[in-house]
Amino acid sequence: MTDFSFVLTSLFTAALVLSLLIKFWLSSRQIRHVARHRSQVPAAFAHTISMAAHQKAADYTLAKARLGLIDMALGAAVLLGWTLLGGLSALNEVLVHWLGNNMTQQLALLGAFVLIGAVIELPLSWYQTFVLEEHFGFNKTTPKLWLIDMVKASVLGAAIGLPIAALILWMMAATGHFWWLWAWLFWMGFNLLLLVIYPTLIAPLFNKFKPLEDESLKARVTALMQRCGFSAKGLFVMDGSKRSAHANAYFTGFGAAKRVVFYDTLLAKLSAAEVDAVLAHELGHFKHKHVIKRIVSMFAMSLLGFALLGFLAQQSWFYTGLGVPPNLLAANDALALLLFMLVMPVFSFFIAPVFAQLSRTHEFQADAYAVQQTSASDLSTALLKLYEDNASTLTPDPLYVRFYYSHPGASERLARMSSLPPTEKVI
Ligand SMILES: [Zn+2]
Repeated sequence: MTDFSFVLTSLFTAALVLSLLIKFWLSSRQIRHVARHRSQVPAAFAHTISMAAHQKAADYTLAKARLGLIDMALGAAVLLGWTLLGGLSALNEVLVHWLGNNMTQQLALLGAFVLIGAVIELPLSWYQTFVLEEHFGFNKTTPKLWLIDMVKASVLGAAIGLPIAALILWMMAATGHFWWLWAWLFWMGFNLLLLVIYPTLIAPLFNKFKPLEDESLKARVTALMQRCGFSAKGLFVMDGSKRSAHANAYFTGFGAAKRVVFYDTLLAKLSAAEVDAVLAHELGHFKHKHVIKRIVSMFAMSLLGFALLGFLAQQSWFYTGLGVPPNLLAANDALALLLFMLVMPVFSFFIAPVFAQLSRTHEFQADAYAVQQTSASDLSTALLKLYEDNASTLTPDPLYVRFYYSHPGASERLARMSSLPPTEKVI
């Protein structure tokens, strides 16, 4: 028993140290690479991107990377604090002492954990919004709106999260050896429900959605969707500018309930033809079934996760190896959930590049589809505008991209697009 405990402690520590070393190494590569190319716009963009925009992107990338270093160090310290240094164990003991051994105690443990984590992250999150994003002109939110958002998100999180947590804890205690299978089924059902109600019930709590009024754009977009064989329940404009100058467009919902949402910031920046090209890219994700593939792989991964948790929760070395002596008289389900959520990311970090690679492949496929349906030049200028507006650097470190980027860099995307064979458009 103690042997396994020691093995887990060693394995966890080694994975944490190794992942931190890799993260710091990658970030320092990214910082050096971007700084080195700051004084010159890459030749391919010499005529499209100004020196000022290029340097703003470099400075923004550097500022984010440096903040990321602090975030990483803080995250590792907090993780160690909760686990091997005894934070979770102490919190658990205090609550058992105070509330006894029951469901209330377990829910209180989950609630207190989330709350403490949020408080620790607060200063960095504030700094990111009101210092970093503000400095580069992206922040549009006010301290008041920021606070209201936080309160709304917390209330919503508690209203949805606590009953869900209670139900999962109940399943862990009451449904026997295969509780993890029931919990997984329930969790999947909940996620599907969330996909359905998020666009209509939750998103409107934070933003206003107005039907797209621009008639010519509407006609254009509708024609594009018909051409691609899609129907949508509506085209909406979201007041993204309320919080941030970053622009975006997305497609949500299932089946016939799909809706297209454009950020007002996107419509302000792109021409109608460019909006069309961006939407065609999103449709490309659907045509290639990326969305379904993503959902199915998420289901499969979480089944693996629940099965693993089902096994680990039964092992006393799982607790002691991570610095938390299990309760002898009470249920350890909440402890098992928390430890699992804390520790898994340390190990899954090492397979993250596989998913990033897959995601970048999907982006190339969606680009190719958009080029087929609209035009390469519209998509290129739209992407360049978006990269420029979001101050995304044109010169990221290639290795950093391989590891982290879910979207390929602008140069790679444009190069790939221009190498696509010209297509004959059917009207
Ligand atoms: Zn995409």
